[in-house]
Amino acid sequence: YYNHDTYIFLDGEFVKANEAGTDFFGQALHYGYGAFEGLRAYATHNGARIFKAEEHFERLKKSCEAINLPFTWTTRELSESAYELLERNNLRAAYIRPLVFSGSNMHLTSASASHIVIAAWEWGPFLGQNLLNVCISSIRRPDSNAFQIDAKISGQYINAIRATSDAIQQGFDEALMLDQDGFVAQASSENLFIEKDFKLYTPPLDNAFPGITRQTVIAICKELNIDIVEKTLTIEDVLAADSAFLCGTAAGIIGIQRIDNTTYPEDWENTIGSSIQRTYKKLVLEQENYEVII
Ligand code: PMP
Repeated sequence: YYNHDTYIFLDGEFVKANEAGTDFFGQALHYGYGAFEGLRAYATHNGARIFKAEEHFERLKKSCEAINLPFTWTTRELSESAYELLERNNLRAAYIRPLVFSGSNMHLTSASASHIVIAAWEWGPFLGQNLLNVCISSIRRPDSNAFQIDAKISGQYINAIRATSDAIQQGFDEALMLDQDGFVAQASSENLFIEKDFKLYTPPLDNAFPGITRQTVIAICKELNIDIVEKTLTIEDVLAADSAFLCGTAAGIIGIQRIDNTTYPEDWENTIGSSIQRTYKKLVLEQENYEVII
């Protein structure tokens, strides 16, 4: 992710990643008390452009508020710092990872101070380019009564790590996760869409993360006159679909070939997901006039 030339943005300054230290007596390391984001910059013909930067930083702010982590920056200054970080690291296409974390404190009390770090590195599609083989995980999404599942809170991602490593151990690429009631919520860190009879369906936000890519897909559907329904989905609904795909900033839009032992009948190229994938790629790579459709 970094070498001796790599800069990170740390509490308002650009410092060398390998010279920066961290606090070993803080709640972030011990309890996962932090909130983070994942953004992508694309190499457009107008240079590096971060897709929906302000929305991502707004969501970071909300995640911090959800766990009483002081957030003392404006989304605009963070956005500008992210652009400067790209320049300092000579990056055009990159994944950008801001993390807000609690300062020195080992008690189980709300943070009175926080730090921010932003890192960036070149990162291809998170799940590769090939159609995915996905399993239905025995590890469920955290209960929304116990965890703030609509926020990107560091410690909660242990759950995603467990689900993906379990999936990979069984020979799959990614894990689909059920909510507390046994409905299909999403993948470990991507949202799910299925296609059935020329309509798209996606689980509602009750138990799914409010993905910015999910929102973008819904906007693309409206633009392309594709019917999209937010609906609670059972395992049977998902297995009986014509096709399915996952979406997220890191993974992009990526089709699913098989779930457990069920292979989707439709050729990916002929699916609604595939046309949305093409539109999304064009959108992020051009980022011209996208305000018109989003
Ligand atoms: N679900 C979870 C749990 C996530 O962490 C993410 C990535 N941040 C997503 C879905 C996809 O969200 P986005 O499209 O905003 O990247």
